[in-house]
Amino acid sequence: MNLDHIPILDHHAHAIFHEAGWRTAPLESYFTEAYDPEVLERHTPHGIFYRRSLRELAEFYGCEPQRTAVDAARQAADYLEVAQRMIRGANIDTVLLDDGLFTGELMSVAESDSLLPWQARRVLRLEAVLAGLVWQHDRVSDLLHSFESHLRQVAPTLAGLKSVIAYRTGLAVEKWDAGEVQAAYDALKRDLKTGETPKLTSKPLLDTALLLALRVARDVDLPVQFHTGYGDPDLDLRLANPLHLRSLFEDPDLRGLKIVMLHCYPFTREAGYLASVYPGAYLDLSLSIPFLSQHGMRTHVHEALHLSPLSKLLFATDASRTPELFYLGARWGRRMLGEVLDDTVRVGDLTANEAEEAAVMLLRGNASALYPAPVQPNAPTQVQA
Ligand SMILES: [Zn+2]
Repeated sequence: MNLDHIPILDHHAHAIFHEAGWRTAPLESYFTEAYDPEVLERHTPHGIFYRRSLRELAEFYGCEPQRTAVDAARQAADYLEVAQRMIRGANIDTVLLDDGLFTGELMSVAESDSLLPWQARRVLRLEAVLAGLVWQHDRVSDLLHSFESHLRQVAPTLAGLKSVIAYRTGLAVEKWDAGEVQAAYDALKRDLKTGETPKLTSKPLLDTALLLALRVARDVDLPVQFHTGYGDPDLDLRLANPLHLRSLFEDPDLRGLKIVMLHCYPFTREAGYLASVYPGAYLDLSLSIPFLSQHGMRTHVHEALHLSPLSKLLFATDASRTPELFYLGARWGRRMLGEVLDDTVRVGDLTANEAEEAAVMLLRGNASALYPAPVQPNAPTQVQA
Protein backbone atom coordinates (compact mmCIF):
# COMPACT_ATOMS: atom_id res chain seq x y z
CA MET A 1 0.00 0.00 0.00
CA ASN A 2 1.55 3.33 -1.02
CA LEU A 3 0.97 6.04 1.61
CA ASP A 4 2.93 8.92 -0.01
CA HIS A 5 -0.24 10.98 -0.55
CA ILE A 6 -1.19 11.12 3.17
CA PRO A 7 0.38 14.20 4.84
CA ILE A 8 1.89 13.35 8.22
CA LEU A 9 1.04 15.08 11.48
CA ASP A 10 4.43 14.45 13.11
CA HIS A 11 3.49 14.54 16.79
CA HIS A 12 6.99 14.06 18.21
CA ALA A 13 10.17 15.64 16.90
CA HIS A 14 12.81 18.24 17.71
CA ALA A 15 13.90 21.23 15.63
CA ILE A 16 16.81 21.26 13.18
CA PHE A 17 20.19 22.98 13.69
CA HIS A 18 20.96 26.54 12.75
CA GLU A 19 23.20 26.37 9.69
CA ALA A 20 26.58 26.52 11.52
CA GLY A 21 25.70 23.51 13.69
CA TRP A 22 24.55 21.49 10.70
CA ARG A 23 27.77 22.23 8.77
CA THR A 24 30.01 20.99 11.59
CA ALA A 25 28.13 18.02 13.13
CA PRO A 26 29.58 14.67 11.96
CA LEU A 27 27.23 12.57 9.85
CA GLU A 28 27.65 9.48 12.10
CA SER A 29 26.11 11.31 15.06
CA TYR A 30 22.66 11.27 13.41
CA PHE A 31 22.60 7.50 13.02
CA THR A 32 23.17 6.27 16.55
CA GLU A 33 22.10 6.93 20.14
CA ALA A 34 25.73 6.48 21.21
CA TYR A 35 28.06 9.36 22.04
CA ASP A 36 31.12 7.38 23.07
CA PRO A 37 33.77 8.51 20.53
CA GLU A 38 35.02 4.94 20.10
CA VAL A 39 31.55 3.70 19.14
CA LEU A 40 30.98 6.68 16.83
CA GLU A 41 34.29 6.27 15.00
CA ARG A 42 34.78 2.54 14.89
CA HIS A 43 31.33 0.97 15.00
CA THR A 44 28.53 3.32 13.91
CA PRO A 45 29.70 3.19 10.25
CA HIS A 46 29.05 -0.55 10.43
CA GLY A 47 25.44 -0.09 11.59
CA ILE A 48 22.64 -1.06 9.20
CA PHE A 49 20.82 2.26 9.68
CA TYR A 50 23.96 4.19 8.72
CA ARG A 51 24.76 2.01 5.68
CA ARG A 52 21.19 2.12 4.37
CA SER A 53 20.84 5.87 4.99
CA LEU A 54 24.11 6.74 3.27
CA ARG A 55 22.75 5.22 0.06
CA GLU A 56 19.42 7.04 0.41
CA LEU A 57 21.11 10.38 1.08
CA ALA A 58 23.45 9.84 -1.89
CA GLU A 59 20.37 9.35 -4.04
CA PHE A 60 18.82 12.56 -2.66
CA TYR A 61 21.97 14.62 -3.24
CA GLY A 62 22.69 12.92 -6.59
CA CYS A 63 26.18 11.70 -5.66
CA GLU A 64 28.12 8.46 -5.13
CA PRO A 65 27.03 6.41 -2.06
CA GLN A 66 30.28 7.08 -0.18
CA ARG A 67 30.76 9.05 2.99
CA THR A 68 33.19 11.54 1.36
CA ALA A 69 30.86 12.17 -1.60
CA VAL A 70 27.79 12.67 0.63
CA ASP A 71 29.77 15.02 2.87
CA ALA A 72 30.94 17.07 -0.11
CA ALA A 73 27.40 17.27 -1.51
CA ARG A 74 26.05 18.40 1.87
CA GLN A 75 28.73 21.09 2.22
CA ALA A 76 28.02 22.37 -1.30
CA ALA A 77 24.25 22.52 -0.65
CA ASP A 78 22.20 25.55 0.37
CA TYR A 79 21.09 24.47 3.86
CA LEU A 80 17.67 26.11 3.96
CA GLU A 81 16.86 25.01 0.43
CA VAL A 82 17.80 21.40 1.28
CA ALA A 83 15.77 21.53 4.51
CA GLN A 84 12.68 22.80 2.69
CA ARG A 85 13.06 20.20 -0.06
CA MET A 86 13.45 17.37 2.46
CA ILE A 87 10.43 18.40 4.49
CA ARG A 88 8.34 18.75 1.35
CA GLY A 89 9.62 15.30 0.30
CA ALA A 90 8.61 13.94 3.72
CA ASN A 91 5.12 15.41 3.20
CA ILE A 92 4.82 16.49 6.85
CA ASP A 93 2.27 19.29 7.15
CA THR A 94 2.34 19.75 10.94
CA VAL A 95 5.07 19.07 13.49
CA LEU A 96 4.94 19.15 17.29
CA LEU A 97 8.39 20.12 18.59
CA ASP A 98 9.83 19.36 22.02
CA ASP A 99 12.17 22.34 22.37
CA GLY A 100 13.87 21.22 25.59
CA LEU A 101 16.79 19.50 23.82
CA PHE A 102 20.05 21.19 22.58
CA THR A 103 18.45 24.54 23.47
CA GLY A 104 20.17 27.41 21.63
CA GLU A 105 21.76 25.19 18.95
CA LEU A 106 18.46 24.39 17.25
CA MET A 107 15.91 26.64 15.55
CA SER A 108 13.17 27.90 17.87
CA VAL A 109 9.61 26.74 17.31
CA ALA A 110 8.84 30.17 15.77
CA GLU A 111 11.79 29.88 13.35
CA SER A 112 10.84 26.30 12.46
CA ASP A 113 7.32 27.50 11.74
CA SER A 114 8.27 30.50 9.59
CA LEU A 115 11.31 29.12 7.68
CA LEU A 116 10.09 25.61 6.86
CA PRO A 117 7.06 24.39 4.86
CA TRP A 118 4.88 23.10 7.71
CA GLN A 119 3.05 24.35 10.77
CA ALA A 120 5.23 23.95 13.89
CA ARG A 121 3.81 23.86 17.41
CA ARG A 122 5.40 23.59 20.83
CA VAL A 123 5.51 20.72 23.30
CA LEU A 124 6.87 21.81 26.69
CA ARG A 125 9.47 19.67 28.48
CA LEU A 126 8.45 19.58 32.15
CA GLU A 127 11.82 18.82 33.76
CA ALA A 128 13.40 21.79 31.91
CA VAL A 129 10.77 24.18 33.33
CA LEU A 130 11.27 22.83 36.85
CA ALA A 131 15.09 23.07 36.64
CA GLY A 132 14.80 26.67 35.43
CA LEU A 133 12.86 27.66 38.57
CA VAL A 134 15.17 26.11 41.20
CA TRP A 135 17.23 29.28 41.75
CA GLN A 136 14.20 31.37 42.54
CA HIS A 137 12.92 29.37 45.53
CA ASP A 138 14.28 28.09 48.85
CA ARG A 139 11.12 26.30 49.94
CA VAL A 140 10.01 23.40 47.81
CA SER A 141 6.35 24.37 48.31
CA ASP A 142 7.10 27.76 46.65
CA LEU A 143 8.95 26.03 43.82
CA LEU A 144 6.02 23.69 43.16
CA HIS A 145 3.51 26.53 43.35
CA SER A 146 5.49 28.57 40.82
CA PHE A 147 5.86 25.46 38.56
CA GLU A 148 2.10 24.90 38.60
CA SER A 149 1.24 28.54 37.86
CA HIS A 150 3.69 28.61 34.98
CA LEU A 151 2.13 25.49 33.45
CA ARG A 152 -1.41 26.84 33.79
CA GLN A 153 -0.35 30.14 32.24
CA VAL A 154 1.36 28.71 29.14
CA ALA A 155 -1.00 25.74 28.64
CA PRO A 156 -3.26 27.48 26.08
CA THR A 157 -0.26 28.12 23.79
CA LEU A 158 0.95 24.49 23.81
CA ALA A 159 0.22 21.34 21.82
CA GLY A 160 1.26 19.12 24.72
CA LEU A 161 3.62 18.41 27.60
CA LYS A 162 6.56 16.01 27.73
CA SER A 163 8.38 14.24 30.54
CA VAL A 164 11.90 12.80 30.40
CA ILE A 165 11.64 11.30 33.89
CA ALA A 166 12.66 7.94 32.34
CA TYR A 167 16.08 9.57 31.79
CA ARG A 168 16.31 10.83 35.34
CA THR A 169 14.82 8.54 38.00
CA GLY A 170 12.68 6.14 35.96
CA LEU A 171 9.01 5.65 35.19
CA ALA A 172 8.00 4.10 38.53
CA VAL A 173 6.60 7.39 39.89
CA GLU A 174 5.81 7.34 43.63
CA LYS A 175 3.99 9.61 46.08
CA TRP A 176 6.27 11.25 48.68
CA ASP A 177 5.37 13.16 51.83
CA ALA A 178 6.12 16.88 52.11
CA GLY A 179 9.01 16.38 54.59
CA GLU A 180 10.83 13.97 52.27
CA VAL A 181 10.45 16.32 49.32
CA GLN A 182 11.75 19.33 51.30
CA ALA A 183 14.73 17.28 52.59
CA ALA A 184 15.58 16.18 49.03
CA TYR A 185 15.30 19.79 47.84
CA ASP A 186 17.59 21.05 50.64
CA ALA A 187 20.20 18.45 49.66
CA LEU A 188 19.96 19.50 46.01
CA LYS A 189 20.40 23.20 46.82
CA ARG A 190 23.38 22.45 49.11
CA ASP A 191 25.29 20.79 46.25
CA LEU A 192 24.40 23.38 43.62
CA LYS A 193 26.99 25.87 42.34
CA THR A 194 25.80 29.48 42.15
CA GLY A 195 23.81 30.20 38.99
CA GLU A 196 24.05 26.62 37.70
CA THR A 197 20.86 25.17 36.17
CA PRO A 198 20.75 21.71 37.72
CA LYS A 199 20.20 18.43 35.98
CA LEU A 200 17.55 17.17 38.39
CA THR A 201 18.06 13.63 39.67
CA SER A 202 16.14 13.77 42.95
CA LYS A 203 13.37 11.19 42.86
CA PRO A 204 11.16 12.73 45.58
CA LEU A 205 11.28 16.11 43.80
CA LEU A 206 10.82 14.83 40.24
CA ASP A 207 8.00 12.42 41.15
CA THR A 208 6.14 15.09 43.14
CA ALA A 209 6.48 17.77 40.43
CA LEU A 210 5.41 15.29 37.75
CA LEU A 211 2.26 14.24 39.63
CA LEU A 212 1.39 17.93 40.01
CA ALA A 213 1.95 18.55 36.29
CA LEU A 214 -0.21 15.53 35.39
CA ARG A 215 -3.12 16.96 37.40
CA VAL A 216 -2.75 20.27 35.55
CA ALA A 217 -2.59 18.41 32.21
CA ARG A 218 -5.76 16.49 33.08
CA ASP A 219 -7.54 19.75 34.11
CA VAL A 220 -6.63 21.64 30.92
CA ASP A 221 -6.90 18.54 28.69
CA LEU A 222 -3.30 18.53 27.39
CA PRO A 223 -1.76 15.15 26.46
CA VAL A 224 1.54 14.28 28.17
CA GLN A 225 4.26 12.49 26.23
CA PHE A 226 6.60 10.22 28.20
CA HIS A 227 9.91 9.03 26.85
CA THR A 228 9.75 5.22 27.26
CA GLY A 229 11.98 2.46 25.92
CA TYR A 230 15.41 2.93 24.43
CA GLY A 231 17.34 6.15 23.93
CA ASP A 232 20.87 7.41 24.56
CA PRO A 233 22.93 5.81 27.37
CA ASP A 234 21.98 8.56 29.84
CA LEU A 235 18.96 6.27 30.33
CA ASP A 236 18.68 3.08 32.40
CA LEU A 237 16.54 0.97 30.07
CA ARG A 238 15.35 -1.19 32.97
CA LEU A 239 13.54 1.84 34.44
CA ALA A 240 12.11 2.93 31.07
CA ASN A 241 9.71 0.01 30.65
CA PRO A 242 6.24 1.55 30.13
CA LEU A 243 4.74 -1.11 32.43
CA HIS A 244 5.98 1.11 35.30
CA LEU A 245 3.31 3.65 34.28
CA ARG A 246 0.50 1.41 35.55
CA SER A 247 0.14 3.37 38.82
CA LEU A 248 -0.62 6.52 36.80
CA PHE A 249 -3.19 4.80 34.58
CA GLU A 250 -4.84 3.29 37.69
CA ASP A 251 -4.85 6.55 39.74
CA PRO A 252 -8.47 7.75 40.14
CA ASP A 253 -7.18 11.34 40.63
CA LEU A 254 -5.76 11.23 37.09
CA ARG A 255 -8.84 9.85 35.36
CA GLY A 256 -9.15 11.56 31.96
CA LEU A 257 -5.40 12.16 31.56
CA LYS A 258 -3.94 11.15 28.19
CA ILE A 259 -0.43 9.69 28.21
CA VAL A 260 1.50 9.07 25.00
CA MET A 261 4.18 6.41 25.48
CA LEU A 262 6.92 7.55 23.10
CA HIS A 263 9.14 5.01 21.26
CA CYS A 264 8.38 1.97 23.48
CA TYR A 265 10.92 -0.32 21.77
CA PRO A 266 11.86 -2.97 22.85
CA PHE A 267 8.74 -2.95 25.06
CA THR A 268 6.33 -2.55 22.14
CA ARG A 269 4.12 -5.48 23.17
CA GLU A 270 3.96 -4.26 26.78
CA ALA A 271 2.92 -0.79 25.57
CA GLY A 272 0.36 -2.35 23.23
CA TYR A 273 -1.14 -4.16 26.19
CA LEU A 274 -1.43 -0.90 28.18
CA ALA A 275 -3.01 0.87 25.19
CA SER A 276 -5.55 -1.94 24.91
CA VAL A 277 -6.77 -1.74 28.53
CA TYR A 278 -6.38 1.89 29.71
CA PRO A 279 -8.42 4.67 28.08
CA GLY A 280 -5.62 7.23 28.55
CA ALA A 281 -2.76 5.13 27.10
CA TYR A 282 -1.45 5.87 23.57
CA LEU A 283 1.47 4.25 21.77
CA ASP A 284 4.00 6.04 19.55
CA LEU A 285 6.07 4.19 16.93
CA SER A 286 8.96 6.66 16.51
CA LEU A 287 12.72 6.23 16.91
CA SER A 288 12.76 2.50 16.10
CA ILE A 289 11.56 3.88 12.77
CA PRO A 290 13.98 4.67 11.11
CA PHE A 291 16.75 3.45 13.50
CA LEU A 292 16.27 -0.31 13.18
CA SER A 293 16.92 -2.76 10.39
CA GLN A 294 13.92 -3.36 8.14
CA HIS A 295 13.19 -6.58 9.98
CA GLY A 296 13.28 -4.68 13.28
CA MET A 297 10.98 -1.88 12.05
CA ARG A 298 8.51 -4.33 10.54
CA THR A 299 8.41 -6.43 13.73
CA HIS A 300 7.95 -3.31 15.87
CA VAL A 301 4.89 -2.20 13.87
CA HIS A 302 3.49 -5.75 13.86
CA GLU A 303 3.96 -6.03 17.63
CA ALA A 304 2.23 -2.71 18.26
CA LEU A 305 -0.74 -4.10 16.32
CA HIS A 306 -0.84 -7.36 18.33
CA LEU A 307 -3.14 -5.79 20.93
CA SER A 308 -3.35 -2.02 20.58
CA PRO A 309 -6.54 -0.68 19.01
CA LEU A 310 -5.81 1.22 15.77
CA SER A 311 -7.19 4.36 17.44
CA LYS A 312 -4.33 4.33 20.01
CA LEU A 313 -1.36 4.24 17.60
CA LEU A 314 0.59 7.29 16.45
CA PHE A 315 3.42 7.68 13.97
CA ALA A 316 6.19 10.28 14.45
CA THR A 317 9.72 10.79 13.14
CA ASP A 318 11.45 11.84 16.42
CA ALA A 319 13.80 13.64 14.03
CA SER A 320 16.20 16.19 15.49
CA ARG A 321 19.10 18.40 14.35
CA THR A 322 19.05 17.56 10.64
CA PRO A 323 16.24 17.67 8.05
CA GLU A 324 17.63 14.37 6.74
CA LEU A 325 16.10 12.54 9.70
CA PHE A 326 12.63 13.93 8.89
CA TYR A 327 13.09 12.77 5.31
CA LEU A 328 14.27 9.27 6.26
CA GLY A 329 11.79 8.87 9.13
CA ALA A 330 8.78 9.75 6.99
CA ARG A 331 9.94 7.52 4.13
CA TRP A 332 10.47 4.45 6.31
CA GLY A 333 7.38 5.12 8.40
CA ARG A 334 5.14 5.14 5.35
CA ARG A 335 6.90 2.13 3.82
CA MET A 336 6.71 -0.01 6.99
CA LEU A 337 3.10 0.92 7.82
CA GLY A 338 2.14 0.20 4.22
CA GLU A 339 3.83 -3.21 4.27
CA VAL A 340 2.43 -4.25 7.64
CA LEU A 341 -1.11 -3.09 6.74
CA ASP A 342 -0.84 -5.02 3.44
CA ASP A 343 0.00 -8.06 5.56
CA THR A 344 -3.06 -7.59 7.78
CA VAL A 345 -5.21 -7.55 4.63
CA ARG A 346 -3.45 -10.61 3.18
CA VAL A 347 -4.15 -12.70 6.30
CA GLY A 348 -7.67 -11.33 6.76
CA ASP A 349 -7.16 -9.29 9.97
CA LEU A 350 -8.41 -6.15 8.18
CA THR A 351 -10.27 -5.47 4.95
CA ALA A 352 -8.57 -3.31 2.31
CA ASN A 353 -10.85 -0.41 3.27
CA GLU A 354 -10.11 -0.82 6.97
CA ALA A 355 -6.37 -0.85 6.22
CA GLU A 356 -6.65 2.40 4.22
CA GLU A 357 -8.54 4.01 7.10
CA ALA A 358 -5.94 2.72 9.56
CA ALA A 359 -3.12 4.31 7.55
CA VAL A 360 -4.78 7.75 7.77
CA MET A 361 -5.46 7.24 11.50
CA LEU A 362 -1.84 6.31 12.27
CA LEU A 363 -0.20 9.00 10.14
CA ARG A 364 -2.43 11.90 11.23
CA GLY A 365 -6.02 11.22 12.32
CA ASN A 366 -5.29 9.91 15.80
CA ALA A 367 -2.83 12.73 16.57
CA SER A 368 -5.23 15.32 15.27
CA ALA A 369 -7.98 13.99 17.58
CA LEU A 370 -5.63 13.71 20.57
CA TYR A 371 -3.76 17.04 20.60
CA PRO A 372 -5.64 20.34 21.01
CA ALA A 373 -6.24 22.49 17.92
CA PRO A 374 -4.05 25.62 17.82
CA VAL A 375 -5.49 28.75 19.37
CA GLN A 376 -6.39 31.15 16.53
CA PRO A 377 -4.18 34.29 16.62
CA ASN A 378 -7.23 36.58 16.91
CA ALA A 379 -9.22 34.50 19.36
CA PRO A 380 -9.16 35.56 23.03
CA THR A 381 -6.80 33.31 25.02
CA GLN A 382 -7.03 32.29 28.64
CA VAL A 383 -3.49 33.39 29.46
CA GLN A 384 -3.52 35.19 32.78
CA ALA A 385 -2.01 38.63 33.00
ZN1 LIG B 1 12.54 12.79 20.94
